[in-house]
Amino acid sequence: MKKIIIASGNKGKLREFNQILQKFAFEVIPQNQYQVPDVEETGLSFVENALIKARNAVQHTDLPAMSDDSGIEVDALNGSPGIYSARFAGENATDDDNNKLLIEKLANITEEERTARYHCVIVYMHHANDPMPLIFQGSWEGKILLKPRGENGFGYDPFFYVPTHNCTAAELLPKVKNQLSHRGQALRALQIRLQQDYLN
Ligand code: IMP
Repeated sequence: MKKIIIASGNKGKLREFNQILQKFAFEVIPQNQYQVPDVEETGLSFVENALIKARNAVQHTDLPAMSDDSGIEVDALNGSPGIYSARFAGENATDDDNNKLLIEKLANITEEERTARYHCVIVYMHHANDPMPLIFQGSWEGKILLKPRGENGFGYDPFFYVPTHNCTAAELLPKVKNQLSHRGQALRALQIRLQQDYLN
């Protein structure tokens, strides 16, 4: 079976990768199994950071790799935290730290103005000098609540209200979140492409 490295150590992302890629015909291996060191995300866009992470994993394993760079864009904060979502409250910030800061910043903003969206870019790199990496994206619209709801998901999910389902992302069943989410959209597109390229 073809091996593909996942260039991420984020437990929430890895869980969703496994759920979404359940019927994937490839063996997907988290980069920590190959002792891939973390790399500094110096890019200024999700695409650049996803490329940096995928390239780092390929260089350390000599295997193809897929990466996920994602985050939340909040309109009332001029698009912040965006690519800095994981480190919004500082370099070693936890999800709780980031959520606390987000709510502080939005405390005086009306509900109508608390529009936001998740973005996800998935990059697949065939080899270290790949001049044509595969790039897929997904976005998911919502609003930020000031009080958390739900226990599922990770990151900003307890505060991310999904108008189409009248609940937060953390209240959705994992299966439903994956059907709707930025990550589900991008990952399914990659899955279709790899199956076309390698299995037909
Ligand atoms: P990255 O690892 O640099 O791509 O940062 C991703 C960060 O964006 C995560 O640590 C979360 O804070 C946030 N994020 C991305 N996707 C999701 C999601 O599906 N739910 C909640 N937070 C997310």
